[in-house]
Amino acid sequence: MNALLLTEYKKLEIVEMPEPDIGPDDVLVRVRACGICGSDVHGFDGSSGRRNPPLVMGHEASGEVARLGANVTDLEPGDRVTFDSTVYCGKCFFCARGEVNLCENRQVIGVAPREYRRHGAFAEFVAVPRRIIYRLPDSFPFEQAALIEAVSIGVHAVSISPVKLGDTAVVIGAGMIGLVTLQAALAAGCTRVIAVDVDDAKLAQAKKMGATDALNSKTTDVPAEVYKMTGGFGAAVAFECVGFSEPVATAILSVRKGGTVTLVGNLSPKIELHLQQVVTRQIRLQGSCASNGEYPQCIDLMSRGIIKVAPLISAYAPLSEGPSWFDRLYNHEPNLMKVVLRP
Ligand SMILES: [Zn+2]
Ligand SMILES: [Zn+2]
Repeated sequence: MNALLLTEYKKLEIVEMPEPDIGPDDVLVRVRACGICGSDVHGFDGSSGRRNPPLVMGHEASGEVARLGANVTDLEPGDRVTFDSTVYCGKCFFCARGEVNLCENRQVIGVAPREYRRHGAFAEFVAVPRRIIYRLPDSFPFEQAALIEAVSIGVHAVSISPVKLGDTAVVIGAGMIGLVTLQAALAAGCTRVIAVDVDDAKLAQAKKMGATDALNSKTTDVPAEVYKMTGGFGAAVAFECVGFSEPVATAILSVRKGGTVTLVGNLSPKIELHLQQVVTRQIRLQGSCASNGEYPQCIDLMSRGIIKVAPLISAYAPLSEGPSWFDRLYNHEPNLMKVVLRP
């Protein structure tokens, strides 16, 4: 099969590779669409330590069942499917508690930290365990299905946050994850969703996706503005989708006393924290990791147009153009959001 292989850092090549082997509980999926994730772009130069070559990246994918392992009896070749990016073990303490995103033996498709190497979906075929596969409705386009993984991050973040009908939410970061999180917050009953970013083009996109307000944190004192909009109290909840000190501080300072800051972004391993603000204003800091079985919910929300991803797809391209699209994303070409490759 053809695959887009990271042969060394910053070097992607189309190569001929053997089709992946499948175990008795696995499914071989013929990949029809696979999105390039920000974490692939951040990881392919070696900076994240989670994409050690040689590796086929790609964890936001959809396709058709090509072959089934001996124990898989509830799928047929040709079925249209997508799959979670997290491969959980199903056996550990956390899996038993239904917290599969916190699995002790968690592996991620298309990722290779030091401990394991799991080839992903920038290839004609990928092997994945049956337990992480979800069927797609016939009318659901493969290209949009490739974005379910990203949607699930936002849906999970909102579903573990105490959101009530009529709440004001602040969403920091209007990239892919911020834009799906803000739609999930609206769907969950927030009637005011304030998008915050440093890029006016992204803020305009956020307004198109339903944000009621947009604030540029380069030119605006965001917490002061949020206080003005909320009768002097601050927002009920903030979703931080960037992950370094400044935007986290903006989130903390924008919520009301007793409010929640849900931390989704994690670009830096450590940040400076406004400890006294958090303690004396009794703010809850809630981490959110990947998703925990929200795929069926996401498929439903997307097929009914409650969460829209089509406007977030900047380009569709064949796998052979993968290397050049990675370069363009890596060089921060403006107005590029999601690029979907079609192997
Ligand atoms: Zn991703
Ligand atoms: Zn587990």
